[in-house]
Amino acid sequence: MSKIEKVDIVEYQYPVEHLGVDSKGNRIYEAGAKARISNFVVAITTNEGAIGEFAPGLGGKLPHLGQVLQVAPLVVGRNPAHREGIYNDLKKVLRHFGGVGASHIDCALWDLAGKRAGLSVAEMLGGYRDRLPTYASAIHADDNGGLDSPEAFIDLAEECFELGYRAFKIHGWTDGDADREIENIEAMGTRFGGRMALMLDLGSEILTYADTLKVYAACDEAGFYWIEDPYRDCGMSQNAQRMLREKFKTPVCALEHIRGLEPKADWIAAGTTDFVRADPEYDMGVSGTMKTAHLAEAFGLDCEIHSAGPAHRACMSAIRNSNFYELALVGPQIPTILPPIYTNDYSDRLDAVGKDGCFPVPEGPGLGVTLDWDFIERNKTSHHEFQ
Ligand SMILES: [Mg+2]
Repeated sequence: MSKIEKVDIVEYQYPVEHLGVDSKGNRIYEAGAKARISNFVVAITTNEGAIGEFAPGLGGKLPHLGQVLQVAPLVVGRNPAHREGIYNDLKKVLRHFGGVGASHIDCALWDLAGKRAGLSVAEMLGGYRDRLPTYASAIHADDNGGLDSPEAFIDLAEECFELGYRAFKIHGWTDGDADREIENIEAMGTRFGGRMALMLDLGSEILTYADTLKVYAACDEAGFYWIEDPYRDCGMSQNAQRMLREKFKTPVCALEHIRGLEPKADWIAAGTTDFVRADPEYDMGVSGTMKTAHLAEAFGLDCEIHSAGPAHRACMSAIRNSNFYELALVGPQIPTILPPIYTNDYSDRLDAVGKDGCFPVPEGPGLGVTLDWDFIERNKTSHHEFQ
């Protein structure tokens, strides 16, 4: 029987030019700054020498790492083909923490399974499409000379339109100023209405329900495609979300902050959302994401994958009830904030989009990417080995 012999977790850092950070940890434009972002890679080796790897993008944060370090020793000795068994055991182990750390192990196991079978994860999941319609998802607005005005948002969105994108998402300012957001919503709606699908994600920054009503009304007027987590209680309170959904016509995209398949089911059943969020780096891997997508399908809802990466593409390629891949995150002079760690032609840079506004689904075995281990080793900050 095949057995997991070893799990390696390699921490590393990578630079991103012109990227700063605000007081709440949001990544924002800062001319001349050079952010060093910490991330990690998971590699699972079997007793037969097969290796499954996973390098998270936006889901490579410190709380993820802590949970992965907790559960990695628990999978040593397990049959790597038993992804469902491991999913269920890690769900129990991480029940206080939403199961987040099971995500990276699960994605590496899918990569391993695909490589052993000589199939892409997309093919193993069933396959529905080869091209993924994509929205450019901008970093948060700022007051640093980057995305600091409606004109700056229009410039970036026009650049995206020229490249082929037919959808664009705004992340607003982080000071909760509803009037400023409305000014931007109106300007973007006027400029791009009918040409691009526009989404708004306020990252829970608006502070009152009253201000949120004004923002929703502006999105209705401007014909936005969806609204995501506009105010502090939204995304946390079913009642808050349902009140807004009943009052306005702009669809709600939610459940990005709700962990676990069962809580997502409760939220859906309570009539809180139009689009269901899932992310293989937050929602217990490829396995958890596909469960969430099928849960949404059963309710007649679309499942919108949060953020970008090879596991995200594999999942979306096999989900019929989904609309857009999220090319997260981009900004002026910032073509991506994701790690530059692939040696094959895989890329989540802004200019990697096709003329059709789509990104491709990797076709190689497993997740279809080759990690640049020279880069990772050169930028390594720590190595944890469990065997
Ligand atoms: Mg969001």
